[in-house]
Amino acid sequence: MTTTFAICATCGVEHSYPLPPVCAICADERQYLPLDGVQRWTTLPDLEDGRTIDIEEIEPGLHAFIVQPPVGIGHRPLLVQTDRGNLLWDPPGFISEDAIQRVRDLGGIAWIAASHPHMFGVQLEWANAFDAEVLVSEKDAGWIARQGDAIRLWDGVLELAPGLSLHRLGGHFAGSAIAHWAGADNKGVMLASDTFAPNPDIGTVTFLWSYPNRIPLSAGTVERIVNSVQDLEFDRLYGNFAPFPILHDAKAGFMRSAQRHIDWVSGKNDHLT
Ligand SMILES: [Zn+2]
Ligand SMILES: [Zn+2]
Repeated sequence: MTTTFAICATCGVEHSYPLPPVCAICADERQYLPLDGVQRWTTLPDLEDGRTIDIEEIEPGLHAFIVQPPVGIGHRPLLVQTDRGNLLWDPPGFISEDAIQRVRDLGGIAWIAASHPHMFGVQLEWANAFDAEVLVSEKDAGWIARQGDAIRLWDGVLELAPGLSLHRLGGHFAGSAIAHWAGADNKGVMLASDTFAPNPDIGTVTFLWSYPNRIPLSAGTVERIVNSVQDLEFDRLYGNFAPFPILHDAKAGFMRSAQRHIDWVSGKNDHLT
């Protein structure tokens, strides 16, 4: 494993040397520095100590990565299998020989895409292991902290394979994206990450500019997001953390949640407060 880069210990994103005084992603208003305000860096060899990546099938053709102990934000990456190649979505901030072998057995990786910069992880390191492309939403290119030849910028809608496409919706970040996949049953699967995040009530989502600091998106932005996904069908919806997936009728829940959000941020429910 290479040690030519470091990983922010708070968000798990790879950075080239020379390192900045603070990780820009963590210092941003949407995220946070460690409690004492001191930036911490780690490296792959440091993270290797006893750490594992379990890979579990969560529905036919869709696998989840469980990194233990978690790295950075501790999100849950997903691997989508297609006949044309596989997509690693929201790559982890860690990679291991065991995980590489397991992913090889699942057909390898053709494309790597993060929904937004909090999820970049060690995307170039995964790309190097599989000779894969790293697809970065053009509007978030300024957040890339480790450049490499594998990186390709995209915007709008990017069709990767029949039934698998990336859509830039913006919101949480200007480049925030979702992946839409037909699913083995063709009913549609939304890999929403936190472009809109599933809630504990199992069936609704929320739209925030900052999740940890709870800053909402406006009615206009949510309307724009709704317009961008209106033509996509999806039965299931997965966020970038394991809890609260919507496993049935997800689009109806999404549409209901969007209207609810718009109502609340436009003051329609002020009489209840
Ligand atoms: Zn960071
Ligand atoms: Zn985020």
